[in-house]
Amino acid sequence: MLIAENLLSIKNNLPEQVTLVAVSKTKPISDLMQAYDAGQRIFGENKIQEMEGKWEQMPKDIQWHMIGHVQTNKVKFMAAFVSLIHGVDSFKLLKEVNKQALKNNRIIDCLLQMHIAEEETKFGLDEEELNSILASSEFKEMKNVRITGLMGMATFTDNQDQVKKEFSQLKSIFDELQSQETENCQLKTLSMGMSGDYKPAIEIGSTMIRIGSSIFGAR
Ligand SMILES: *Cc1c(COP(=O)(O)O)cnc(C)c1O
Repeated sequence: MLIAENLLSIKNNLPEQVTLVAVSKTKPISDLMQAYDAGQRIFGENKIQEMEGKWEQMPKDIQWHMIGHVQTNKVKFMAAFVSLIHGVDSFKLLKEVNKQALKNNRIIDCLLQMHIAEEETKFGLDEEELNSILASSEFKEMKNVRITGLMGMATFTDNQDQVKKEFSQLKSIFDELQSQETENCQLKTLSMGMSGDYKPAIEIGSTMIRIGSSIFGAR
């Protein structure tokens, strides 16, 4: 029952405003069910097909979050059930989510992923791209997506000052955008922080943390 213990020891120490996403990628359903039985209802996956398989087999009161990079041609496989897409990092992808959501007669909540890390390899938008999406009339007319916040990943480093600096940068973009709310853009979620850096992320203002290895063990 280590999974349940790990989960509860994290969850019981979180501030009230912080939501925990249990990142279960690569883990078998039996592991996820241990977390489920301990009360967890939000799971994060980074591969659409794997998430779809788990969704089919697991209880239907689970909220499935897509936390990984999403290929446009795969959106259709999750559009019927995904509850939040964290990694929307292009206008093209947002348009496809809107299209597939419409086909399923749904409104899909999305976070825009911002590039805050030093590494070139991490996906995400810069501020200019973010502003141009939100300002466009095409976005304003989209009826089947709702931007509910931002997501970001800090550089993978032991340098705590750098991690905090990157999270603070994301938090200030998030704060600035609060004034620009529209019908399909209502920022309430700031998804930042993983097993190694969720504590500084929360200090800086994260409202959603994505924790994998500290709950389920190393992958
Ligand atoms: C895998 C993953 C996590 C969880 O990472 P851990 O270090 O295992 O907590 C969080 N966010 C994203 C985007 C991931 O891909």
